Amino acid sequence: MSSFEELGLNSNLIKAITEMGFENPMPVQKEVIPFLLGEGENDLIALAQTGTGKTAAFGLPIIQEVDGSKSTIQYLILAPTRELCMQITKDLESFSKHSARVKIVAVYGGASIETQIRAIKNGAQIICATPGRLLDLIKRRVVKLGGIRTLVLDEADEMLNMGFREDLEEILETAPKERRTLLFSATMPNEIRKISSNYMVDPKEITIGRKNAGSDDVEHFCYFVHAKDRYAALKRLADFYPGVYGIIFCRTKIETQDVADRLIKDGYNADALHGDLSQAQRDAVMNKFRIKHLRLLVATDVASRGLDVSNLSHIINYNLPDELEVYTHRSGRTGRAGKKGTSIIIANLKEKGKIRQIEKKLNKQFIISEIPGGKEICENQLFHFIDKMKNVEVEESDISSFLPQVYKKLEDLSKEEIIKKFVALEFNRFLDYYKSSSDLISPKDSRRTRETRDSRETSSADAYTRFFINLGKTDDLKPTTLIGMINDYTRSKSIDIGEIEILRNFSFFEVDNQFSDLVLNSFKRKNFKGRDINIEVAERKKRTLQKHERGKAQSGKRRHTPRNPRNNNFDRKRRG
Ligand code: AMP
Repeated sequence: MSSFEELGLNSNLIKAITEMGFENPMPVQKEVIPFLLGEGENDLIALAQTGTGKTAAFGLPIIQEVDGSKSTIQYLILAPTRELCMQITKDLESFSKHSARVKIVAVYGGASIETQIRAIKNGAQIICATPGRLLDLIKRRVVKLGGIRTLVLDEADEMLNMGFREDLEEILETAPKERRTLLFSATMPNEIRKISSNYMVDPKEITIGRKNAGSDDVEHFCYFVHAKDRYAALKRLADFYPGVYGIIFCRTKIETQDVADRLIKDGYNADALHGDLSQAQRDAVMNKFRIKHLRLLVATDVASRGLDVSNLSHIINYNLPDELEVYTHRSGRTGRAGKKGTSIIIANLKEKGKIRQIEKKLNKQFIISEIPGGKEICENQLFHFIDKMKNVEVEESDISSFLPQVYKKLEDLSKEEIIKKFVALEFNRFLDYYKSSSDLISPKDSRRTRETRDSRETSSADAYTRFFINLGKTDDLKPTTLIGMINDYTRSKSIDIGEIEILRNFSFFEVDNQFSDLVLNSFKRKNFKGRDINIEVAERKKRTLQKHERGKAQSGKRRHTPRNPRNNNFDRKRRG
């Protein structure tokens, strides 16, 4: 295995990264560092996800090559979010700890521009910026790109997803033509290809892991549940994995808050992260999550971007994202730095088609599993608790003075009684809940009776009403806008929404049957951007293919939940 020295890094950098605990270069670093330090000046496209070590891959050569004797801007790094900018800046500062006169400034929206202007005017060779704030500073003539040697686009696909395309193009036009451009992206949609063909010269392409694929260290599970059981399923999964440390992704801000509120009420260490919170609130939540004071973070995709946590045990998709590519980003947040991770989808049967598309994209199969039963969950919790008790470090000196009194208090009880009481004390809460709640029945069980009745449609299709709405792409209608309208107009956060199909001039969406009248009535006399809204119940989609597909998916792929994950080294979640 080549070492960092063999890649060509100088001793100041080696010293800094050794102090950071880096021992061997990660694959992206082995490819990128010698390429950037070498003779050539080619551009670079690297398909690499967050967590692969890409910041050091571009950051270390930049620090090595920066001209510390000049105080002009030589390197520009663009990133989609404030959090990622701060993270990159922090990493670069750590790398440059022993390198003289290297100055990195982070600029991003939502913070004082005056402070950032002062920092740049004090002299910086490296700027790490979000596109919008950078353009602002260019227009104010505070940032001049004339001396840029290398421009890095980090998480380029995220920048495009977040609507920064025009800003990016303006920056790429403004930067000197003879610069080097490095583009890092987890996925390679066509828009990225366009950017690369318009603004990059003969780029070398490297792929860390498969193209558009997730990490091999992630196992993907799918649990099919009835729409009404989604939250109960989430709770069971959280209980089944004692000590889970993960992110639960929701589709909307309202759903995010709702799920977090319910988890908190039910005694979990959880909180919400979404765009309706102030920056200070979001920072506080992220900090608590980073230091594991929160074990479950319920988040929207946008708000969680830039949250860099490398040791998550689980990603839970409470709802699938509208853009399937986003699933790759979500699941790529676990299974990092050589650790195993689990990505879970809680889905209804109608989403089977989407699951298959994701499988194709990942080139991996989901393990279709049953929601664990109460007995399995209690078993896991109990054994985890016992393991933890066995492994606890006892500080003799701290507790020895209390022990004689403790022994005295317990002297009437036998060893067996002490064990029973001790287990019950910690464990009654689980036993009580699971004693009184019956196991969740997965949709396939109830489906059997219906299949004989109607072989052309799945039972889950029966559960939804399909609506036509006279708004479409030309009205700038997006799935999230439509979900927001349903939530706002019905004033209900708990309506399960099925498939959404946005077409040019009109669209279709599905909601749980029990809410169809409510939806129909609440959309009356509403308008969208000045246009009167008209919704009608539409004919259901024919699903002739689904029976066949269903048969295929069941053969061989359905597997029971892993029975005993307690070797996974999870800590038990603290409650209450
Ligand atoms: P990144 O993909 O840049 O977000 O990096 C993911 C994590 O891996 C960060 O916490 C880095 O500090 C860490 N990291 C990067 N390179 C190495 C390395 N060679 N050895 C150990 N950890 C590393």
